[in-house]
Amino acid sequence: MGVKTALTTLMTLSILMGVSGCTSQTNQQSLITTQQIAPQDHNSMMNHLYVLQKIAQENASNRAVGTLGGQATAKYILDEAKKAGLHAQMLPFENRKKQVGQNIIVEIQAQSKDTAIIIGAHYDSVPMGPGINDNGSGVAVLLELMHTYAKLKPKHTLYLAFWDSEEEGIGGSSEFASKLSPSQLKGIQAYVNVDMVGTKNPTIQIADGDQSSIQDMENMLKQRGMAESDYKPLLDSLRNIPFHRDDLALENHLKTFFKARGLEVKEDVSTLTASDTAPFLGKVPVASLILFNEQMKGDELEFAPCYHKACDTIDQVDPKSLQLAYDAVKDLIQHLNQ
Ligand SMILES: [Zn+2]
Repeated sequence: MGVKTALTTLMTLSILMGVSGCTSQTNQQSLITTQQIAPQDHNSMMNHLYVLQKIAQENASNRAVGTLGGQATAKYILDEAKKAGLHAQMLPFENRKKQVGQNIIVEIQAQSKDTAIIIGAHYDSVPMGPGINDNGSGVAVLLELMHTYAKLKPKHTLYLAFWDSEEEGIGGSSEFASKLSPSQLKGIQAYVNVDMVGTKNPTIQIADGDQSSIQDMENMLKQRGMAESDYKPLLDSLRNIPFHRDDLALENHLKTFFKARGLEVKEDVSTLTASDTAPFLGKVPVASLILFNEQMKGDELEFAPCYHKACDTIDQVDPKSLQLAYDAVKDLIQHLNQ
């Protein structure tokens, strides 16, 4: 998850106004309890995170793009793909700071080559920390999906996209998306982004496919007496974010998944331009899953404890959150393959 000024301003605003689902009361409703999720695969996902943490420890405490920690992370993903008997494509690129990044695309072939589902997560950290929740957690979920689907032949080709340089200009996914041809774009049934999904006591945030949350936010701010001139420019910028007519179907499916588990979700558009969903918006149907635990730290908004800090270690990760994210994405893939 990267930072966006307009986004943080808006989120700060909504938190101060009590609009966001981050007050302690709403948080209580979305707490994931052990009763709701049976422990299954989460130990192997935690093992991936231990490895990523060790990589950071041995490489200047981070796994940022263009660093030894970043390269060691890429090697770990490649080794895992090899273990699963899958071919991984390495796609090098240069980001806006002229650092060399490497996207890693693992393909699980389907009955038809013309249609595809892409599940994406960035594997780079910020230079300030090891990035275990942001976004080792997304990487762990993708690796687990990779091992699950390695020996299956799904209806649509499944691409697991491990992006580099998200924290530096959303570099990797932008590079990849810019090279997709119109016919490739047409065949993509969904791009699903997985970012910061290990958060403890999370608010489950999914992409708002029909921008309904913007209207809700406007109504709330109006009701609370905020002047229109204070919020209109920000809300207008959110309304200008492109969307695809099939985003809503993906949103509804995820909503149903979480509702069946008694969990509340927050629909959101403000985070979509701050992660690897950005380059796919409006081009293909997009879904996104982020688990936040937002709080104000002085004047600053923290999306989750230790966000972009040296303390974003495995201690910040709840295996139950990882398992929930894995289950949700797997359920969506299965649904799309029906
Ligand atoms: Zn981030």
